[in-house]
Amino acid sequence: MSDISFLQQVDKAFDDAAKYTNISDDILNQIKRNNSVINISFPIKRDNGRIEIIEGWRAQHSHHRTPCKGGIRFAEIANEDEVKALAALMSYKCAIVDVPFGGGKGAIKINPKDYSESELERIVRRLTFELHKHNFIGSGIDVPAPDMGSGPREMAWIADTYKSLTNDINGSACVTGKPVAQGGIRGRNEATGSGVAYGLKEFFSCKEMYSQYNLEGGLENKSVAIQGFGNVGYHSALFLSQMGARVIAIGESDGMIYNDNGFDIKELRDYREKHTTLKGYPGGKFDEDINAILYCDCDILIPAALEGQITNENCERIQAKFIAEAANGPVTYEANKILFNRGVVILPDVYLNAGGVTVSYFEWIKNLSHIRFGRMENRFNQKTYKNIVSLLSNVTGNEIKEDLIKEFSHHSDEENLVASGLEETMVNSLHQIFNICKENDFKIDLRCAAFINAIEKIARAYEDNGIFP
Ligand code: NAD
Repeated sequence: MSDISFLQQVDKAFDDAAKYTNISDDILNQIKRNNSVINISFPIKRDNGRIEIIEGWRAQHSHHRTPCKGGIRFAEIANEDEVKALAALMSYKCAIVDVPFGGGKGAIKINPKDYSESELERIVRRLTFELHKHNFIGSGIDVPAPDMGSGPREMAWIADTYKSLTNDINGSACVTGKPVAQGGIRGRNEATGSGVAYGLKEFFSCKEMYSQYNLEGGLENKSVAIQGFGNVGYHSALFLSQMGARVIAIGESDGMIYNDNGFDIKELRDYREKHTTLKGYPGGKFDEDINAILYCDCDILIPAALEGQITNENCERIQAKFIAEAANGPVTYEANKILFNRGVVILPDVYLNAGGVTVSYFEWIKNLSHIRFGRMENRFNQKTYKNIVSLLSNVTGNEIKEDLIKEFSHHSDEENLVASGLEETMVNSLHQIFNICKENDFKIDLRCAAFINAIEKIARAYEDNGIFP
């Protein structure tokens, strides 16, 4: 537990970073403050005929860039403070990865597992109606996305309801994370986990970075423990194992599965889908202690479930030297300080889980431009590659092998373009953050550097917009 709320923790991280900038207090106060928040309640009819009141929130933290952008979570523990904290993190996250949005976040206070599919559909459609009524949704206003407990299905319901309420030609861009057939983009569902993997790959490939923190390079054979096997946890596990890391432990809400040789991630996911638990999976040992995952002896610990998991009360038990924050706010403000002093490296949420919003940005652009990425140039590029290959073959007099040609002539289709844009973003942003640490003689941690990066960019946006005449 932290003595201060989640929002206060985010604000304190902001204040710590602000000291390293020369931005005036007036502008800092404006950047920090949540601009608009709505608290909505509405009735829905349950399948048994009873009427239930559903409560939710949507916060728009910053309008320095529009639209506001951020997920909608479905969680019993949701509250206004959490939504405001997550919206603030979204503003900073977007700035760090150069995505031109203000931060937003929403929540519906339910456990989605307690509702049937048709009840969930009624909740999501009514929520969209409420957001529209309050002018809190639209491609240029506020664009939700998936988060804990929500996914492509919910986003499709939102888009469909919004489009039935308006004549907006850009209606599909009112929400991201939709299924591809409903205006989504290839690669969005897996984007957050894939961004986590790209961020880690870059960190452990850059000698200057990993050696600065006395760590060994390369992901190959690094042992990884992951808390949470939902969207972010599963995809992080999948891509990291494809990059050669050994995912030795996965923690879920009923315990942890462990195997020192690593797991076949897809097989483990199939098992969980079939049995709704990791318990009983024949390829590993199950431990019912739900916190055991945090104390695993591993090279990289990835909390990918909930906030407030590593606190001043349990951080002494963390054995990993490297924590990759795939979830939002998994390490409390107080624990972050203790771990930094102990030399534990934390790659912060505000950078590391930005893959989702980055690919949401690509989806939004696709929806506004009404054309799939790669549609115009894919065939043209293929022909150009072929011409270059035959020219080379003619000039050298050598026949070029088919597999070499294949390797050379990548398809510029949507999936490849999204992956390339995401990798570029995660790599560039990591170097920006690391360089800020370097400029400050490594007296600050990566989180502080990431916040400095965000604050300076948002302050510049305010200046550019001429908001303070
Ligand atoms: P999800 O609902 O798909 O998965 C969360 C998983 O965590 C579930 O499988 C759940 O059973 C498990 N879980 C719950 N309590 C747990 C506990 N005590 N111990 C271990 N596991 C537990 O949610 P998600 O989309 O994967 O989001 C996870 C985190 O990542 C959240 O903090 C979210 O805000 C953050 N995030 C998500 C996205 C995204 O694109 N989905 C983007 C950025 C950040």
